[in-house]
Amino acid sequence: MSTKTFRARIRRSLADQNLQVALDGNARRRTVGRLSAFSSVPDYQERRRRAHAIKADVVAHLDEYLSRFINQVTRNGIRVHRAADAQEAIHLFLEIAREHDARLVAKSKSMVSEEIDFNHALEPAGLQVVETDLGEYIVQLRGERPSHILTPAVHLTRAQVGQLFHEKLGTPYTEDIPEMVATARRVLRQVFLAADIGVSGANFGVADTGTLCLVTNEGNGRMVTTLPPVHVALMGIERLVPTLDDLALFLSLLPRSGTGQKLSSYTSLIHSPRRFEDLDGPQERHLILVDNGRSAMRNSPLVEALSCIRCGACLNACPVFREIGGHAYIGRDGSIAPYPGPIGAVVSPALFGCENFGQLAQASSLCGACQEACPVDINLPELLLRVRAGENADGKGPHEAVGVPAVLKLGLQAFRLVASAPLLFSLAQRLGGLFNHIYSPRRKYMRLPTWTGWGFSKDFPRLAFTPFRARWNNIQQTVNQGDQVSQPPENPPETEISPTPSMAAQFSAELVAIGGKVYSLPEKEVKTRLAKLLQERGIERVAVDDIGEQYVTGIESVRVPNPTVWAGITGALLGIAESGSLLLVAGEGRPLTASLLPDIHIAILRESDLVPTLVQALTRPEVCSASAAVIVTGPSRTGDIEMTLSIGVHGPKELHVFLID
Ligand code: SF4
Repeated sequence: MSTKTFRARIRRSLADQNLQVALDGNARRRTVGRLSAFSSVPDYQERRRRAHAIKADVVAHLDEYLSRFINQVTRNGIRVHRAADAQEAIHLFLEIAREHDARLVAKSKSMVSEEIDFNHALEPAGLQVVETDLGEYIVQLRGERPSHILTPAVHLTRAQVGQLFHEKLGTPYTEDIPEMVATARRVLRQVFLAADIGVSGANFGVADTGTLCLVTNEGNGRMVTTLPPVHVALMGIERLVPTLDDLALFLSLLPRSGTGQKLSSYTSLIHSPRRFEDLDGPQERHLILVDNGRSAMRNSPLVEALSCIRCGACLNACPVFREIGGHAYIGRDGSIAPYPGPIGAVVSPALFGCENFGQLAQASSLCGACQEACPVDINLPELLLRVRAGENADGKGPHEAVGVPAVLKLGLQAFRLVASAPLLFSLAQRLGGLFNHIYSPRRKYMRLPTWTGWGFSKDFPRLAFTPFRARWNNIQQTVNQGDQVSQPPENPPETEISPTPSMAAQFSAELVAIGGKVYSLPEKEVKTRLAKLLQERGIERVAVDDIGEQYVTGIESVRVPNPTVWAGITGALLGIAESGSLLLVAGEGRPLTASLLPDIHIAILRESDLVPTLVQALTRPEVCSASAAVIVTGPSRTGDIEMTLSIGVHGPKELHVFLID
């Protein structure tokens, strides 16, 4: 296969009306969500710069950070394995699976697993891997690769998903998204409970504390890291940050850039397997650190791409991705690239070979929208140019440029000649404008032969009769001739300073905005109000932790995970005012499943336990001393089918907080 196939795939995408509607909807919602989420971060540019510097430092001193991280993770009781490539990663996993005589694997979303073709590689060994992220589950049922880093089934309509569920799961055909989400919840709940091993990725590893941080919205990440007896995390070696402070910075950027949320519904912070005093959690945790070309990339001109935190914002911003979607990013051999979009056009050639995937870098207008959207300020246009120039991850400098047809090369050489001689360039512009004016005075666009590709989905803009430089010179002359330039007022108008809301008010407003409910009340009223709520819902049995138990009267309560209990009542170590989040830690008398398995989660929080920001919560000593902790920000949610928000895909459908004043 060749670049022709790449073009054919692009044309197919452009002609697919369903795909066009889906991609437009995705890009619009994600872009609006991202901009609105960052509107509450006045120092966004400063944070981006810091994030860029931190990642550059980590990549430059990766060996030191890795060794610190591995020591700490091992000390915490997690077994660490290092895989040089995909084959070794699979081999290591199979060893673990054999040790436990495993058959069923419940897996949450992980780009590294896509990269090493995890699911297919395990089939010959008799292992069944079930994807549990809704979008991933859908594409797995269709036998496809994800078409977006964050929204794997973005290319499908609700009708296609309804038909798929009807054919594969035997449910009646429906286009009702909540009904489809409920089907997935029912089917996958059984998988979580029966799985022998849970597999997850890891968004970040914290070198100082050995924390594995996992960010999800549906709750499947929590399920696979909590319910099965063994948990295996797959992580690229570059996904490190030095400290918990740095983690807080990256968590302020990742969800906002990816899904437009201040924080994702669940931010899991994992330190060790279940401890003696814990009531739930896996007996064993493993971490497989995957290199798979990253070390070579570190010494190549594409090194900056290792700073990527896989937020997907560059995909949503890219005018090319928005037209062609992820499945159009294919190699010369016709295989779909594991990573699509602007970052994929750099990472895929870097990790899997420029020969096959170098052509992907041609799918860019180099407009810079990707870099502008990137929360780590990665210079993607520059990296794309490097790939185009044939500079790849073997570090041997420029090779033959890839994916460029001979006729285009000739054309570009001619253009370089003209563009580097100002007089010639100006003359060419004038001639072009004149030709345009005479040949088609009324047309908005220039007509070019179809073999150039122009005119298929985009037209070539007509050349201006008066070139830009000439018009600019005219403007300059007018200004120099004495036009008044308006000055900013000497004293800017006084701005009214609005009073800062109390932390409790801010917490409540944030939580309500993301679908939670808050009841501010004195402690003596909690029991009565809680009993009323449970009665209204017809709940006769609840899962509790030590704190929850104090407030439950006249109703049966259980401690161990139990999927037939519909409400869980727990305490919360802290509330985070800026995002309306709760911090829960595992430990004696604190089962994390009480806030995960039931349909309704009710949390008891004292106003005195509110902190203003995430960083104060993350650095609390209880977080690192617990085997696991989770930051809960609203009920479980998904937007995986047609970007329509659905609540309660795997975790609780309702979140109520009793805020004791
Ligand atoms: S390159 Fe930047 S914008 Fe793109 S996925 Fe990575 S971090 Fe996000």
